Amino acid sequence: MAVYINDTCIVCGACIDECPVEAIVDDADNPTGEEIYYVYPDKCVECVDHHDEPACAASCPTEGCIVWDKKVDGMPSRDDIGDDKRNRDTPCVE
Ligand code: SF4
Ligand code: SF4
Repeated sequence: MAVYINDTCIVCGACIDECPVEAIVDDADNPTGEEIYYVYPDKCVECVDHHDEPACAASCPTEGCIVWDKKVDGMPSRDDIGDDKRNRDTPCVE
C-alpha cells in the first residue's frame, strides 16, 4: 500500500500538490467514501527518486496522519523502511 492517510486527516489540502505522481485525491474523490484524503497505493512511489522522504507527509501539518503501509508488488519502495514499520501506525515523518 505504500503510504496511507488515516482518519486524523483534517482535510487541509497541503499534501495533494506535493505528490510527484498525482497519487493523492481529496475527500470528494476518495474511493472509500470517507471524508479524508486518500492515496492510491498502486500509484504511490514513496517519493523514491523524487524526494528524501515522502513529500506528502513532510507537508502535512498533523502529528502523523500519513503512515507507512505495506509494499505494493512492482512499485518502488524505501529499502530502509522494514515490514516492522509498515503497519499503518508509524508516521512517515516524525
Ligand atoms: S509518498 Fe510521495 S508518491 Fe506517495 S503519495 Fe506521498 S507524495 Fe505521493
Ligand atoms: S496534508 Fe495531511 S491533514 Fe492535510 S489533507 Fe493531506 S493528509 Fe490530510
